[in-house]
Amino acid sequence: MESADVVIVGGGIMGCALAYQLARRDVDVLLFERDTLGSQSTGKCAGGVRQQFSMEANVRLQRLSVQLFENFEQETGHPADFRQIGYLFVLTLPQQVEDFRHNMEMWHRVGLSEARWVDASEAARMVPVLNVEDVLGCTFCPTDGIASPADVTSGYAQAARRHGARLKEGVDVVGIDVAGGRVQGVRTAAGDVASRVVFNCAGAWSSSIGRMAGLEIPVLPYRRQVAVTGSFPAVPRNNPMTVDFQTSFYFHPEGDGVLMGMSDRVEGPGYATDVNWDFLEKMFEQASRRAPALAGAGIKTAWAGLYETTPDHQAILGPVPELEGFWCAAGFSGHGFMQAPAAALLLAQLLLDRRSEIDITPFAFTRFATGSLVHERNVI
Ligand SMILES: Cc1cc2nc3c(=O)[nH]c(=O)nc-3n(C[C@H](O)[C@H](O)[C@H](O)COP(=O)(O)OP(=O)(O)OC[C@H]3O[C@@H](n4cnc5c(N)ncnc54)[C@H](O)[C@@H]3O)c2cc1C
Repeated sequence: MESADVVIVGGGIMGCALAYQLARRDVDVLLFERDTLGSQSTGKCAGGVRQQFSMEANVRLQRLSVQLFENFEQETGHPADFRQIGYLFVLTLPQQVEDFRHNMEMWHRVGLSEARWVDASEAARMVPVLNVEDVLGCTFCPTDGIASPADVTSGYAQAARRHGARLKEGVDVVGIDVAGGRVQGVRTAAGDVASRVVFNCAGAWSSSIGRMAGLEIPVLPYRRQVAVTGSFPAVPRNNPMTVDFQTSFYFHPEGDGVLMGMSDRVEGPGYATDVNWDFLEKMFEQASRRAPALAGAGIKTAWAGLYETTPDHQAILGPVPELEGFWCAAGFSGHGFMQAPAAALLLAQLLLDRRSEIDITPFAFTRFATGSLVHERNVI
């Protein structure tokens, strides 16, 4: 029977980044992806990378991720196309301003000193298409930005393979073997594999991987959609990623056009990934309020993918104590592209060194049993 020190289920950004971090430390890694690498949520992602979160642990994690994105090409030999155009959060309610004042204090305390307040008139200069009539204030962090999900995923995958990791596409994991209270291996459509450590990196499908091991992993899939315009010079290449916090409508430059997205907060969980044009109409109504010029922009393409959402919008990172050898790196709740680089490095440290350079216990699976949930509020 084939064997591996560590089996990774799922070859999105998380699985590929983890395969790299483990293989570079000489761990014998076998990754199974049932489709092609990076083809699911990772391939549908808008590429945003930010540090402006409400929960301190997310800010700390993201400061590390940004460093890893900055050094990605040097480290892996592959481009990340990381462009630090900044993120501008546009606030229109007094309560949001109050909440973000607390956020800003915390950001500065943990070292995100470059984050700052921007008033409406400065925001209008930074983002010429923005309607600032009702804007009470904005926060801006210039080291946030956007990167290429396809480049980063294939960069990690190629670097992992160079370090000896085996990454197999088109192989469905169909079962997890458990005996004596611990993981013994996985069953796949292509045969069984013995391993004492299995990482669940299955994104929106991670609850099904949990069920294979008799565990309830609380991750639900939610459809999220984006649309991209044709050439649109009114939003220049250095226009910050701009988020209308009240509605979640956001946009950033994409090639010579603009990528726009918004969360449908009414639609329940489900695996549908067809484009809902009625919802995109609503998104354009919002565009016409916040950035009127965008409402007239022609759509070149649109697509939908899945967020992988936990009850507190925080990732689940680390070992699951109920079953020895079963680890989770899933449930990123729409922040997985930006969080995976740091999460992978820290999980590899926790597995191999028993401690990580940044504490990831706030993301532990045990929080669901103890009820100690701290909700991330800066969710788009
Ligand atoms: C429209 C949209 C915009 C987004 N924008 C952003 C953004 O700007 N910034 C950001 O950070 N995040 C964003 N996200 C979220 C981000 O895409 C995800 O959080 C991230 O890609 C999750 O990565 P993952 O590797 O955990 O999951 P995935 O990329 O979904 O990978 C999981 C893989 O597991 C595989 N798999 C599942 N079951 C099995 C099995 N039984 N056997 C083998 N393989 C299996 C799947 O085929 C899949 O490829 C966005 C998401 C969407 C949909």
